Amino acid sequence: MEDDLADKWKSFSLSEVEQADVGIQDSLQGSIDDHKDYCLIFSLLTRKFFNKEAFKSVMRTVWSPVKGVKFFDLGENVFLAQFADQGDKKKVCLNSPWSFNKNLVLLMDYVGDVQSSRIKMHFASFWVRLYDLPLMGMNSETARSIGESIGNVEDIDLYSQSPGWGVFLRVRIRLDVCCPLPSVKRLCLRNGEVLWVHLKYERLPNFCYYCGKLGHSDRDCELWVLKRALFEKDGFPYGVWLRAEGRNSTNGQRKSFSRVLP
Ligand SMILES: [Zn+2]
Repeated sequence: MEDDLADKWKSFSLSEVEQADVGIQDSLQGSIDDHKDYCLIFSLLTRKFFNKEAFKSVMRTVWSPVKGVKFFDLGENVFLAQFADQGDKKKVCLNSPWSFNKNLVLLMDYVGDVQSSRIKMHFASFWVRLYDLPLMGMNSETARSIGESIGNVEDIDLYSQSPGWGVFLRVRIRLDVCCPLPSVKRLCLRNGEVLWVHLKYERLPNFCYYCGKLGHSDRDCELWVLKRALFEKDGFPYGVWLRAEGRNSTNGQRKSFSRVLP
């Protein structure tokens, strides 16, 4: 919509007053840098109506900042949180993902040079468990390689052990939520053998069992609406098995998988 507006303006004849540039002072740069340490932009990943005040109230409760937080509305579904203490902001980021009404809360660092109407948020960090690794692959190097093949690796949880033998390894990955959640990764050994590593996500909010994307359910999936006559519910490619439950240590119990592999 903003691009449409910009195109329209090109065809209008602007007055001299409208065209005269207004600059933002360089001296404001200092305060912009300060805001980065204390401010966070956030949004709710949903297509449906939601109660904004209830959303902010729940976030204030679950984030429980030690020194308080102020919320500002930047748009229909874009908000800014200004923390009184930068430690509170870090804690909120490190403990993400958060959810409201089972929908994912998207977080983004403060940016000073973007119009609020043009802010696009589509990344979120998850602890991803890697199951069925070969023993020789239970180390940070393999975990990082797998993680980097699907997003940006932010942390690897090996409890200072290497190799990290156990039921699974945990990798914190920043993912593009516009893409389907990867549920498996192909692993090729030197002898040519191919193995499948299974992925599960901790604190995974609602997602679509048909297309594997966050932000809607299969009932609201545009792809599913087109193909629903061809599929039975049991035939969905994704399921609740993508959600990691229970203890978050590497000695947790293994869950069953239902993804059919080639
Ligand atoms: Zn879908």
